Amino acid sequence: MDKVKIQDLEIYARHGVYPEETALGQKFLVSLALEMDTRKAGLADDLSKAVDYGKVAHDTERFLTGHTFRLLEAAAEHLAEELLLSYPVANITVEIKKPWAPVLLPLDTVSVEITRAWHQVYLSIGSNMGDREGHLNRALEFLKQDQKIRMGKISDFIVTKPYGYEKQEDFLNGAVELFTLYPPGELLEILHKAEADGNRERIIPWGPRTIDLDILFYDDEIISEPDLTIPHVEISKREFVLRPLCQIAPWKMHPLLHKCVMEMLEELQR
Ligand code: ATP
Ligand code: CA
Ligand code: CA
Repeated sequence: MDKVKIQDLEIYARHGVYPEETALGQKFLVSLALEMDTRKAGLADDLSKAVDYGKVAHDTERFLTGHTFRLLEAAAEHLAEELLLSYPVANITVEIKKPWAPVLLPLDTVSVEITRAWHQVYLSIGSNMGDREGHLNRALEFLKQDQKIRMGKISDFIVTKPYGYEKQEDFLNGAVELFTLYPPGELLEILHKAEADGNRERIIPWGPRTIDLDILFYDDEIISEPDLTIPHVEISKREFVLRPLCQIAPWKMHPLLHKCVMEMLEELQR
């Protein structure tokens, strides 16, 4: 993708672990690479269609002089987040160099470089207790409050028969696309908070629940950890997941099965 870059912007600020560093301040060199599509701005030759690098540079200066961080890691992390929230960019690389780092050895600079991005996620949401639609909407509102989450497409909510443990009420199920700055593990924690906010209790496995939020896909990542599997293991076996998902993402490819959502749904229904 195209990039807008700023190289070695010089900023005098007060980041560091030592008291002298926060009292006296020192020089920092900040480099940024903002990934975006510059085609429209390029064709129209129009600043209003572009990301204004002058403004980005001034915002960066203001941010790094207005805060004090102990670590370069923290300064880079918070700056990247601030810029991703303020500008229409998909992805940003931030490098902060510290030429006067108190290392007591001859060196040019020490630096930290990080890349952060908006990630595309699909969730499955379900409820089969009480006001089912109310629970689903409340969970979506909870997620919407978070500035590091932006909602995308939302499917219709469909009524489905219970799965796994059948002596319970019918479910209302849906699928949701969202964009987030959270990595997968942190997103799962947020979903657990949204479930707690919806009074979710775990009593019977696959049993009745006010709200269940599962991560189906996170970009095209494949994750296999004790408490997190992505893509969700059961996607291809569950019509109540695939049917709403097919409304909003029929061509989304499963990164392991190499089939799209519509194909998985058709195979399951056959
Ligand atoms: P299922 O995952 O088969 O739909 P469930 O949703 O009823 O079952 P829960 O009790 O809600 O299961 O979740 C149990 C644990 O599953 C969660 O605490 C979480 O750590 C883990 N988990 C693993 N992969 C995922 C994922 N992709 N999305 C959500 N939770 C997951
Ligand atoms: Ca589930
Ligand atoms: Ca779950």
